[in-house]
Amino acid sequence: MRVAVGVPVDRAFDYATGGLGALPRGTIVVVPFGPRQLNGIVLGPGDGSIPRESLKAVIRAAPLPPVSDIFVQFVERVTAWTMAPLGSVARMALSQPKALLPPPQQKLFRRSDPPPDGEKLTTARRRVADVLATAGALTSPELQRESGVSAGVISGMERAGSLEALLVDSDRPPPRPGRLQGPALSADQMAATTSIAAALGKGFVPFLLDGVTGSGKTEVYFDAVQRVLDAGKQVLILLPEIALSAGWKARFADRFGVLPQEWHSDVREGVKRKVWRYALTGDASVIVGARSALFLPFDNLGLIVVDEEHEHAYKQEDQVIYQARDMAVLRARLEGCPIILASATPSLESWVNAGMVGDPPRYQRIALPNRIGKATLPEIQSVDMRRTPPERGRWLAPPLVAAIEQRLEDGEQSLLFLNRRGYAPLTLCGSCGHKLTCPNCDSWMVMHRLAGRLRCHHCGFEARPSHDCSHCGEKDSMQACGPGVERLAEEVLQRFPEARFGVFSSDTVTSPASAEAFVSSVTAGEVDIIIGTQMAAKGHHFPNLTLVGIVDADLGLAGGDLRAAERSFQMLAQVAGRAGREDRPGLAMLQTLDADNAVMQALLSGDRDAFLKSESEARRLAAMPPYSRLAALVISASDEARLHKAVRALESVRPHFNGVGIFGPNMAPLAFLRGRYRARALIQSEKNIDIQAVINGWITAASMPSGVRLQIDIDPYNFL
Ligand SMILES: [Zn+2]
Ligand SMILES: [Zn+2]
Ligand SMILES: [Zn+2]
Repeated sequence: MRVAVGVPVDRAFDYATGGLGALPRGTIVVVPFGPRQLNGIVLGPGDGSIPRESLKAVIRAAPLPPVSDIFVQFVERVTAWTMAPLGSVARMALSQPKALLPPPQQKLFRRSDPPPDGEKLTTARRRVADVLATAGALTSPELQRESGVSAGVISGMERAGSLEALLVDSDRPPPRPGRLQGPALSADQMAATTSIAAALGKGFVPFLLDGVTGSGKTEVYFDAVQRVLDAGKQVLILLPEIALSAGWKARFADRFGVLPQEWHSDVREGVKRKVWRYALTGDASVIVGARSALFLPFDNLGLIVVDEEHEHAYKQEDQVIYQARDMAVLRARLEGCPIILASATPSLESWVNAGMVGDPPRYQRIALPNRIGKATLPEIQSVDMRRTPPERGRWLAPPLVAAIEQRLEDGEQSLLFLNRRGYAPLTLCGSCGHKLTCPNCDSWMVMHRLAGRLRCHHCGFEARPSHDCSHCGEKDSMQACGPGVERLAEEVLQRFPEARFGVFSSDTVTSPASAEAFVSSVTAGEVDIIIGTQMAAKGHHFPNLTLVGIVDADLGLAGGDLRAAERSFQMLAQVAGRAGREDRPGLAMLQTLDADNAVMQALLSGDRDAFLKSESEARRLAAMPPYSRLAALVISASDEARLHKAVRALESVRPHFNGVGIFGPNMAPLAFLRGRYRARALIQSEKNIDIQAVINGWITAASMPSGVRLQIDIDPYNFL
């Protein structure tokens, strides 16, 4: 039979059944692979390329039901689309090897029935018998606690035949979600739930739930979750920052009476093992997770929700390079179930798919144009950094400073947003101009003053800062250039010495628990000014926050790749959306050098759709996605000569097809990263062309030198 083995190789292997008989597709098996024993998924009959008698045999089948045929198809389709090795995708699907083993066993004691002849119970033994008369069966530690006896009493009773031991699985399935009263829905929300409810149970229907910040999208999809659970099916909810979303989880618990099963990198392995298994057995009704939750073996999926569908965190950039939102749509299509993509700032792709520029709609769009209750959308103003610049060496302009002072006076909160961690993005010598760069990357070392460290944000390399220049030897010549959140905090401390402030970035908030603590201190009014990176921009609901100051609204446009304007708009609109979420009106102030650019104009006018329309028109004219296909080829080697040899090998067999454009390979903008030299090529094709086949033909024809790594990125988001 044919088995996809969980190692990074780009094909499946034939194995003999080894006395197990024909195993159905989807059976998880253990197979010999070189000197190792590895897990794999049965794909079907072998391809017969190796004579039967020289095949190695499957060692055993996992004591589990097979994963569904749809799940196997999903693994195959993701492999074909991403061009990742089949084994790497199979390994993501089998990410919990311990889940494939029988679950751990637990020893329970119960009263022997009938009790042994002539049994005489001491007082202690009598208490044990009484506890078990009501409890049924308990573990030894539970029994000791409940009846106040030692372990010796219990083992003595077992020997005397008064107790009977039984072995059971120690995993207990999670409690089923219940049905509690949700908050009353607005008329808009009601209409939205009705439209979605009408499509449930009718196969694959994609929705774009397009609602402004604070419009109550979550309650709308919770209603759909409820209906799918009532129909006895499972639900997958993808949420990019689930680990930090204590508020979201609390709302889920309020609505369903239990916490959802979670799946992300902060979940302990022991818990993940169970979640994986419960996805397969159907015992997990709702799983909420980061993008990798898409590779759980759900048995009976009835709905997928992709919240914050525009988030770039859905794009995985290493190993298997995939866009989880797009693969979620693929999975819903295969499962024949609806999918809800929710956002206040939809991705251009989803917006176009919803038919917003006149193409035939592929997604059904559901709009929530208003905030719920008395809340209104924040007013947005620009602060012209040419006309009203801050003092030298400072970053907050006078109008923003005045607005913060007003909030402090009124007892309201402000958020200062700067998407730059650390103290300063660049340190240079005032005497010779020498810049501190990472030895492993083409990048600057970022000063982290709190940690007393210079850090490379690409590879994590750290160094101790020095006041003296290592290049020219000048004393006390090293200067910090530009602000990070730490430097902004310094300015806040100088300007508003009485104010209580907190820095919200991945350097200061390092765990789900510390994020929760930070959020609750803000909600409790213990913070006047929040200084935050994009971490502060996402999903939080701070009732008393009425001012958002965007310190450098032009920052996101630097670099200028395909999605820079879109990404910048999404980020700024989301941050601005933190202001005024309850009865007090919010204000967002954007410090900019160029208030005339399209992103700023869209934010100031509030006309998001006009912005998306002109962006999509620009993409159409440039033949860029979603109006074309795009793929990147990243070639890297630790040796520069080898890289050039690989580039020449690819150049010599560059394909020529009508409707396909190939740019490069050239040295990448980040030509040196984590100790490797890098080149990139961009492949652009018309939509009806099989771009994967073009790439496959190209790289198969090139004879690459050894030690060169080739990564394929279909629909790239990163162009560095
Ligand atoms: Zn950093
Ligand atoms: Zn110097
Ligand atoms: Zn580095």
